[in-house]
Amino acid sequence: MSSLVAASDLARAAYCPRQLYYARRDDDRAPPPAVREVRSLAFEYPDLLDAPGDELAARPISVSASAYRENLARLRERDDWGALTDPVARDVFLAGKDCRGIAHKLVRSPGDDQPPVPSLVSPGEPPERGVWEPQRVRAVALAKALAWERETSIPRALVEYPAVGVVRTVRLTTGNKAAYRRALRIARDLDFVPSRLRNSAKCESCAYRERCGVKTWSLASLLGR
Ligand code: SF4
Repeated sequence: MSSLVAASDLARAAYCPRQLYYARRDDDRAPPPAVREVRSLAFEYPDLLDAPGDELAARPISVSASAYRENLARLRERDDWGALTDPVARDVFLAGKDCRGIAHKLVRSPGDDQPPVPSLVSPGEPPERGVWEPQRVRAVALAKALAWERETSIPRALVEYPAVGVVRTVRLTTGNKAAYRRALRIARDLDFVPSRLRNSAKCESCAYRERCGVKTWSLASLLGR
């Protein structure tokens, strides 16, 4: 079990190998309380859909109350709305052949006897389309771990962004599986201090920016370097 790579490490490896190095060195794993507060929204969609504006304003949503209700109304149109709001299980530890991690929900597949799919609940906001690569990699890792446990194919996973009321699907496409394998190689082989990213906007929101000593992209630009 100990040789299994944490799915969250894969996400860091996909984001920046050096960030993974810092997180492992400092054993920096537990999500901050603010993350837990955002994640709890993913278990209250029906109530939040009907919540008055002042109640929504007191919750950690990152869009206006009206935009949030509109997003949840769109979410309600999905085939799996019922399954999303009444998951088979929550905070399930999964251990696969190569990876382990927590699926924040197991969500029934709509209208058939297919196995459930894992859902990763992100505290952040989604890109304009699809899912950020670190989360895609982590979602693939959870789907593969669940497939290993159930000895069946799990063709997709979900990534929920409850701070904005959006849910996206990650399919186990060739490209997504290749990204997963790349991250797995990095996470397994990491026995050195990886180079800093160069001129990457990723550093702007990296918690290790100061100790990493990287110049932020905007500062570097301002200095003309
Ligand atoms: S500041 Fe940039 S280079 Fe340094 S760990 Fe974070 S993302 Fe990686």
